[in-house]
Amino acid sequence: MRFIFLFTFLVTTVFTFAQRNCGTALYAARFENEIVTQQINSSYNRDTIEDEILTIPVVVHVLYNNNAQNISDAQIRSQIDVLNEDFRRMNVDAANTPEAFKVHAADSRIMFCLAQINPEGYAAKGIIRKYTSTRVFDLNDGMKYNAAGGDNAWNSKKYLNIWICNMGSNAIGYASQPGGQADRDGIVIQYNAFGRIGTLMPNFNKGRTATHEIAHWLGLRHIWGDNECGNDGINDTPQQSGYNNNCPSFPTLSSCSADANGDMFMNFMDYTNDACMNMFTHGQKTKMRGQFAINGPRNSFMNSFACDSSMSTAAPLPDDTISAVKTIAPSFKIYPNPATNELNVEGLNGFDLKGQALKIYSATGVLQFSKSNLISTEKINISHLTSGVYFVSIISGKDRKIIKLIKQ
Ligand SMILES: [Zn+2]
Repeated sequence: MRFIFLFTFLVTTVFTFAQRNCGTALYAARFENEIVTQQINSSYNRDTIEDEILTIPVVVHVLYNNNAQNISDAQIRSQIDVLNEDFRRMNVDAANTPEAFKVHAADSRIMFCLAQINPEGYAAKGIIRKYTSTRVFDLNDGMKYNAAGGDNAWNSKKYLNIWICNMGSNAIGYASQPGGQADRDGIVIQYNAFGRIGTLMPNFNKGRTATHEIAHWLGLRHIWGDNECGNDGINDTPQQSGYNNNCPSFPTLSSCSADANGDMFMNFMDYTNDACMNMFTHGQKTKMRGQFAINGPRNSFMNSFACDSSMSTAAPLPDDTISAVKTIAPSFKIYPNPATNELNVEGLNGFDLKGQALKIYSATGVLQFSKSNLISTEKINISHLTSGVYFVSIISGKDRKIIKLIKQ
């Protein structure tokens, strides 16, 4: 037993630390047919304007099985900073692009924010934390579903969903393609390859895994076209015989190099270390921005305003307290609803109200009523509430359930 454990540990360590392991191509192969059928129906709003800044609201779902995986807000914010540098070519290491390739380097004029408004219109900070009993996720999307130990996506027509979790040796990241199924649309990143502060894998410590995966989410392929001397569909990226690892020096020639400049190994879509990649090309920029055009699969983002906190209609709900203890997700019912004077509350699906706390908020998020140490079948006096819409909330561990209440 000890041998097996040790062996597993070693294999995991080797695969996790040595070279980039992006699961996107493998993942995409499973959904080829689906993408073709779902790329229609995308005329939402307006076309893009040439070179306008496109800003994408991001929600980060942190799924943790231990404290190390519950990465800090600061680590998450450092990743947003990296994205806004890399996609705007404001990264300090842009200076490292070889002279011969600088003419191809582009500012994509795409930016990112942590969502300031949640799908219900409440002010938000764009970060969700959730304990999971799943120790290792694979490429089968479990992290994207509550029922599988993950967290359901926010509306992927309006938000870029990023799931942070432990994928062990399966991959350090993977992305869905534009036009795929909405509830699994987004990217997944290994918790210790996200951001540029915190405890990170040595070769993947500058936030470039998310840069790479978001570029997949925006339609880019690997620079070698996932084939020997393959085609990535971009005119200004040179043909490469395959991917590059680690940190090559310029020029690096391969069997199908078009000229003496060789491979563009510093492109974000190669497999080099974070410290050695620093550019997208004009062709890649055109491809990524094309997703947002009037007939593009991500045109709905032209109608997303979640980066602007002034558009929220309600104050934030209180933060959940962080708990590393697994609890049964709260499930309960209230009746009658609408109610006038008395509200009955009962647990459902094995969830016992006993010892739990209940809170009632106004529609603007102001706490109106609170009761702790509930009994299993509660009767709450609500005669003091004025008529209107309220939210009844029960928090258990890191899970919360909210039910809308109409007070007559
Ligand atoms: Zn990739």
